Amino acid sequence: MKPHEFIQTLNAKNPKVVVDRLPDWLVNQWKKSGQDIEDLLTSVNQSDWAVLLLDHLKPRLHKDLQLFLESELIAVGSVEDPAPDAYMQDLDGEGYAIIFHSGLRDFVYRVARIIATRFKPEMFVQGFEPVGTIGETSRLVSEVFWWYQDTGSAFGPSYPIGEFQLRIANLLAVETETFLLAHEIGHILDIGHESCDAMIIKLEDVVSPDHRDEFVADLIGLRLVMGLNSPDADLDPFNTSMIYAGAEFALQIYSGLECLGFEFKDSHPAALARLERMRSEIKASCDNIASWNIVTSMSRGIDSIMRKVIEIIQDPGEYEDFFEREADRVVSELNRLLEQYTGGMVPNYLEFCIAANDLFKQGYSHKMLEHVAQVTAAFVHDLRLVNGESTMNSSTGVRFQKYKLLLMYVSNMREPAQSLFMDALHSE
Ligand SMILES: [Zn+2]
Repeated sequence: MKPHEFIQTLNAKNPKVVVDRLPDWLVNQWKKSGQDIEDLLTSVNQSDWAVLLLDHLKPRLHKDLQLFLESELIAVGSVEDPAPDAYMQDLDGEGYAIIFHSGLRDFVYRVARIIATRFKPEMFVQGFEPVGTIGETSRLVSEVFWWYQDTGSAFGPSYPIGEFQLRIANLLAVETETFLLAHEIGHILDIGHESCDAMIIKLEDVVSPDHRDEFVADLIGLRLVMGLNSPDADLDPFNTSMIYAGAEFALQIYSGLECLGFEFKDSHPAALARLERMRSEIKASCDNIASWNIVTSMSRGIDSIMRKVIEIIQDPGEYEDFFEREADRVVSELNRLLEQYTGGMVPNYLEFCIAANDLFKQGYSHKMLEHVAQVTAAFVHDLRLVNGESTMNSSTGVRFQKYKLLLMYVSNMREPAQSLFMDALHSE
């Protein structure tokens, strides 16, 4: 099978975006701007995320390599799959296909968005010094990882984020994914296309032969994203630091997923070993400490957060007290809301909803689920008694109202949270 046919087969399985799947605000804004919603759907359905990433990377590549990537030998494409993964398929002499899972994009963006809350515009003048407390940011990121472990989807708590930070999140996420794409291109070049000859890196001295391929693909990938093999790639210090941060961030995210036991399609050596190797390579290629400081101006701050995240994922023990206290606070607040909005003729759904929204955004989903299951158990217990003795008093009425409030609230939640909380509501 030829690479583009392979990608077409995968694309055929992707669900198409229809108007109902677009958020209301987007549809309204789009119509307000006087544009046709059908045009938007056509362009969304025809565009492929992996192709966009490749277009983003191309201007930094050597002309010969650009031609090679545009040839019939290579095709890239995305596939709807929640597992955060990307890989290269060798099509036995016909060429190579690079496949991106939608879950990789979602996961990277989830984490990048939280990291970006620690950026402020003045950092780019005064030097990067993260704002806020590392503990809280790391907690939020860890929850995204745990949530993925529980549900297999990219999801997590909400938190305030500004316009500038959203832009940083986008840039960081795109550069992270571009590096992962370049890593796969690195595998293809390493297999032996001629364009690669000038780039082969001598690794025998430091790398165990088992994992040679992965280290080589990283180093080629890094050279590609940094435009090191193209005289035309002209990157300013800001872009250079963002691109390099993306490469490190990709491996930091992989490292977190490894800790949770996630298995990538590529059999990779430990992501942190790859990160160390890449860092030492780029350090060696910097002429002096000043240029090293520029390249890493963004990645150093992110590294301190991600190291903490990985510590927390590996051993939540030290942080458990803090998590436990916060989680208890959130759960007792939920309990208070349930008390407050029940007991009347009908439960006050509207006000409960507004208050509960703020609460559920804070995360601690494990504890919240537990509590939802307890409310369910209390209600189901009443049902059994009612069946037997036919008694219904004010306190059983309240328990019924609490259950109803949660049921109504959860049925309006977004997935994957909805399914998980629904399970808790049907847990008896
Ligand atoms: Zn690989």
